Order: sequence, then structure tokens, then C-alpha cells
Amino acid sequence: MPRVISGRTRLCGVLGYPLEHTLSPPMHNAAFAALGLDWVYLPWPVVPERLGEALRGLRALANFAGANVTVPHKEAVIPHLDELTEEARAVGAVNTIVCAGDRLTGHTTDGAGLLAALAEAADFRPGGASVVIVGAGGAGRSAAFALAVAGARQVTILNRSEARARALAADVARAAHGGKVLAYQLLITPSTAQILGGADLVVNATSVGMRPGDPSPVDLALCRPAAVAYDMVYNPPETPFLRQARSRGLRAANGLGMLLYQGAAAFALWTGRAAPVGAMRGALAAGETA
Ligand code: NAP
Repeated sequence: MPRVISGRTRLCGVLGYPLEHTLSPPMHNAAFAALGLDWVYLPWPVVPERLGEALRGLRALANFAGANVTVPHKEAVIPHLDELTEEARAVGAVNTIVCAGDRLTGHTTDGAGLLAALAEAADFRPGGASVVIVGAGGAGRSAAFALAVAGARQVTILNRSEARARALAADVARAAHGGKVLAYQLLITPSTAQILGGADLVVNATSVGMRPGDPSPVDLALCRPAAVAYDMVYNPPETPFLRQARSRGLRAANGLGMLLYQGAAAFALWTGRAAPVGAMRGALAAGETA
């Protein structure tokens, strides 16, 4: 049966640029279909200069229910919203907008997505753990806040730009409930071996690994075999970071699980229903091999 879109259909989508390779539309449309909801999810590629116009247009649509926000708009979208959740305000980034009446609220579900993916893929719980996050952009910020707030004993941030790592560490320390937060410049610190050798979890939250020929952003040979390695990159599905981790015998997973669970959390915010995770996972797997 072809999908029928009517005047009652609720509208969601993803704002980003470019969006040629996004897996979010098949994932969310599969979820709506699985629950028999008359909703549709579309890709909305918007160049940075026109983000404000796009949001004004969406606000004007009476059937607009909400949106995901991805690169490069996660921070830039904030001035165009009416309110932010406490977590989105702390992280300084929004990946989900919920429209209620004519009010737009910015949420971030990336951190919750990461924690759910780590639990599922590696049975990893952050309580009492020492974690290393490589990267201090939007994804690194979400990871650092989520892991610190979930009780990590120590959060160490390694980033190419040391100033960005230090700024994130200072922000997270305020939210960390007594956990220790450290920041170092990636690759240059002589204590990298010591930092990685003491880690229970290493997260790649950089974009390194996406391009052919990219190296691993850190040397996982320095990790203990009991450590978990999580790469937020999911395209390609196997990066040099993951290959190194697996050759060391570490438990390792790519970012597809985080994509799934951040999407499941957004779905629940928009619809008020628990997300049909199996249908969403199936759509991601089909999209990955397409
Ligand atoms: P971003 O804000 O642009 O940050 C990019 C990060 O990568 C920064 O820490 C940057 O360091 C670092 N970086 C870039 N090129 C580098 C290089 N050549 N060497 C060392 N570090 C480098 O991007 P983002 O939104 O945080 O996203 C980061 C990655 O996470 C992307 O691959 C994205 O696809 C992925 N992600 C996945 C999910 C998921 O659901 N799986 C969700 C969100 C993001 P500087 O600060 O020094 O520039």
C-alpha cells in the first residue's frame, strides 16, 4: 500500500546541511509505520545563512510537530527557539526541537543515546568509571556531560584544540557532582599512555575516521584489554579506531547504536509513545547496506 499523506498528517524532519546521506528519515518513517501513526519525517537541507528563515517557516505550519537538528546547526539553532531544557542549555547544543502550540523547545538526546548504546553494545555503565573522550565539539560536549552526570569517577577530554578541551572541562566540572574532570591537548601530551592506560572507556567524538585514509585519532594499543572503545562515527561502519580496538581485543562498537537511541528518545518526545526500537534498527541496517 502506498503511504497516504493527508491534511491530518503530522510533520517532522531533520535540519542540517548537507543531508544526502542521512539515515534519520527511513528510521523515523519506519517507526511511525510500525505504530500506525499518521506522521511523516522529511530531510530539510538548509544552508547556514537561511536557518532562521527555515524555522520561521516551520513555526507557521499548523501540522509541524518537531525536528532533529544536525551539523552544522546544533548550536546556531538556539537563538531561534523559545526555550531550552536544562541539559541542552548546559551542553550548549540542540539535536531535537519539540513544537507545542507555537512554542519551540530545544532538547539534546545525544547523551542519552550514547549511554543507551554503551549499555547495549558493551554492557557499559558509567558509574565509578574513568572515561576518555576524544573530541570537544558538539558530540564531545554531549558525551562529556552525559557521562559525568551519570556518575563517571573521572572524565578526561583530549582535543586537538586545547582551549576547546579546557573550556568543556570547566563547563562539565560545574555539572559533575564531585567527579574529576581533566583536559589535555590531543597527541601532544606525554601522559597520553597513562591517560589511555587507566581508561575504562574511550569515546571517539571527533570526525576523524569519516574520510578515506583517516588514521585513528588515538593509539588504542595503550589501553587495557578490559576497556571499551566507542566510535561515534558510523559511516564507514569500521574505522581505524575500531579496527585497532578489535585487534587489541577490546569491546568496541560504532555510532549506529547512538544514532538509534538518540532517535528513539526524540521519537518519544514528539509522539509521547515509546519508540519501536526494533523497526528503527531494521531501517538503519537496511539504509546502511543500501
Ligand atoms: P564538531 O562540532 O564539528 O567537532 C569536531 C571535533 O573533531 C572537534 O573536537 C575537532 O577538534 C575534531 N577534529 C576534527 N578534525 C580533526 C583532526 N583532523 N584531528 C583531530 N581532531 C579533529 O562535530 P560534532 O558534531 O562534535 O561531531 C563529531 C563526530 O561525531 C562526527 O563524526 C559526527 O558524525 C559524530 N556524531 C555521531 C552521532 C551519532 O548519533 N552516532 C551523533 C553526533 C555526532 P577541534 O576542536 O580541534 O577542531
